[in-house]
Amino acid sequence: MDDARRRGYLDALGVTIWERRAPLAAVADQIEIAPVAPEPISPPLPSPPEPVQTKLERLPLPSREGAGGRGAERLPPIEIEPDPMPFDRFDESGCSPALLDAWDAIAHLPPASDRPGNAIERMDWETLEATVTGCRACGLCATRTRTVFGVGRRDADLMIIGEAPGADEDREGEPFVGRAGQLLTRMLAAIGFSREQVYIANVLKCRPPGNRDPHADEVLHCEGYLLRQVALVQPRVILAAGRIAAQQLLKTDVTVGRLRGRWFSFGPSAIPLRVTYHPAYLLRSPDQKAKAWEDLTRIRRRLDGADA
Ligand code: SF4
Repeated sequence: MDDARRRGYLDALGVTIWERRAPLAAVADQIEIAPVAPEPISPPLPSPPEPVQTKLERLPLPSREGAGGRGAERLPPIEIEPDPMPFDRFDESGCSPALLDAWDAIAHLPPASDRPGNAIERMDWETLEATVTGCRACGLCATRTRTVFGVGRRDADLMIIGEAPGADEDREGEPFVGRAGQLLTRMLAAIGFSREQVYIANVLKCRPPGNRDPHADEVLHCEGYLLRQVALVQPRVILAAGRIAAQQLLKTDVTVGRLRGRWFSFGPSAIPLRVTYHPAYLLRSPDQKAKAWEDLTRIRRRLDGADA
């Protein structure tokens, strides 16, 4: 049946004829799409924020060869917190102004010929020792057995200063004897000194009863003898052994544990001074011997010119 006859037949039957649609592709080809202009975005978007660098990210990184390798960039210096130690009573060189005042007072005393009594600052060794032997300037003269002047080489490079005589020293008239003295002798030997090669003295020349701490007036009366001994020996280095010696020499109340580990300047000659534990304390606290050894090696190195 041809198409015209089929249409007529269906139309007679009342059947609606639907036209077949053209393929989509063919329809699409006939559609013209007008270009559409983009609509402006209002308001405009803000620009992206700058990346924030932390202080650490701003530091230049070392090269792969390591901080010390060739071509490595140098890291900026690190600022170290100042030593929190209360050294307000010391000047920058580590010298105690109070001690300088004491030296100054002695240095400005009128000449011996102009004032009564003995002028300690002008005494020679023999006069000084005889003066100490007969001294009754403080109350300790009443309880002492013997005065303890000092022993050793009178032009020694190293001078060791302790606090005051104990029972053994009071009996024998010599500083650092007994078990503590034997330990000091071994400590000195460890850094190459015999006892005879150093000079040893105490802040006080007479024993305080019961080994109590010296009183301020006793130190005041006696320290002139020690200062004269230092001036006569002119050591290159002073070792202050123990709390009393360190605190009296440096005119401070800072503990030995905080005074040790650094150099101080002593007196107008700025003699290098180092603090360590007293041998008697080391006998009671042997775990502290390593620190004392460290102090002694620093002294040895200083005397050898290898430690500033
Ligand atoms: S302690 Fe010193 S000031 Fe006191 S009596 Fe002995 S030597 Fe003299």
